[in-house]
Amino acid sequence: MSPLYLETIELKEAWKHVDGILASYDEIILKSHAVRRKFEKKLVENMKSALKSAEIPYKKVIRGGGRVFVQLENVGLALTSLRRIFGLSWLAPTHRLETTKLEDILRFCKENYEKWIPEGKTFAVRTKRVGVKEYNSLELARQVGKVIDREVNLKSPDIELFVEARGSETYIYSQKFNGPGGLPLGTQGSVVALISGGIDSPVAAWMLMKRGATIIALYAHSGISRDSFMRFIDVMKVLKDWHAGEQIRVFVYRESYDVSLLKPDEIKYAYILERRMMLRVANALAERLGAKAIVTGEDLGQVSSQTLDNIATIDEASRLPVLRPLIGMNKLEIVELAKEIGTYEISIKRVPPECGTLPICVKKPATKAKIEKIKEIERRLGVEKALERALLSLEDVTKFVLR
Ligand code: ATP
Ligand code: MG
Repeated sequence: MSPLYLETIELKEAWKHVDGILASYDEIILKSHAVRRKFEKKLVENMKSALKSAEIPYKKVIRGGGRVFVQLENVGLALTSLRRIFGLSWLAPTHRLETTKLEDILRFCKENYEKWIPEGKTFAVRTKRVGVKEYNSLELARQVGKVIDREVNLKSPDIELFVEARGSETYIYSQKFNGPGGLPLGTQGSVVALISGGIDSPVAAWMLMKRGATIIALYAHSGISRDSFMRFIDVMKVLKDWHAGEQIRVFVYRESYDVSLLKPDEIKYAYILERRMMLRVANALAERLGAKAIVTGEDLGQVSSQTLDNIATIDEASRLPVLRPLIGMNKLEIVELAKEIGTYEISIKRVPPECGTLPICVKKPATKAKIEKIKEIERRLGVEKALERALLSLEDVTKFVLR
């Protein structure tokens, strides 16, 4: 299986000129009947929306039995878009016959197999049959196998040929591409994602999207580094392509504490103060837009500030649950995922360090900040006023990402 994020899909010659794309979903099938119907409907909506925004015309979308078939011409282009639809487990360029008659299927396979299975290659036929009584799957496989003049190898064939007879149609495919899996975007409400543009937070936001949540991105901007802000915008342009079917929303705020009021021995707390302010702004934004949680790219022990003590101290400022989906991953896994998503190359761009809205970056942040100490400093710096300033500076920058 190839990585998810690809500029172009390498289609085998034999599968370039087909009737469309057959896509499969899995987790949705496990749901109760009512939920399943709702999720399937959203899945199809999201697929259509992805094709529309990529300006790829399609003729028909047929759904049923754990499959969605999209009838269209530009299969390669459509695959690059549809591979970013959460919920889909795989996609394949597919021939569709408007018949399930055995003789029709056999004739079609006989006419085409030389293209599908080059000489000297072994093959196996894999079949499925839904709502067809004329034959069973085994019989179908045997019969198709018989008209193909190539060597059979059921255990490890060079090429697998899939033939699915469903209702009144037959689908024939061979080259499969993996999809992202998960649940259709927009089935689980929305979350505010704190995104810095670094490697981790875009991956964290993506993981929530994969579980069906739409995201409202929030970036804290000191105004010092335009490059850093632009990196965030570029990351969001990539995430937007994964967000088909729902409007992505992107916000930035620029104001916070006056850190010149910090005493020298309090500088080490600036990181925690800043994270707590981010959560306050995120909570306020969530309240306005009806989001139900916050997601961050933090994990455990990756940088010195990310300790269990600090997580507790930071979370104390949040009314909503703070989700940290990267907590169970190691750095290499996160990097691999960032590459699959398509954010990695952007995130590793060198930009001047930006520590949220604060003009200082703390070299050695406190690792065991006591909540009482933090609250005392916040009172002195005027947390209420600072939050007010932050919210006044909050700006909807969605249009920069969409254009
Ligand atoms: P990332 O790779 O996402 O930058 P990180 O491993 O560098 O994360 P930190 O710099 O400690 O970790 O930031 C922890 C989390 O705080 C980030 O993952 C992100 O969710 C949030 N965050 C950090 N800086 C910003 C920012 N300027 N705007 C919005 N959120 C931020
Ligand atoms: Mg960072």
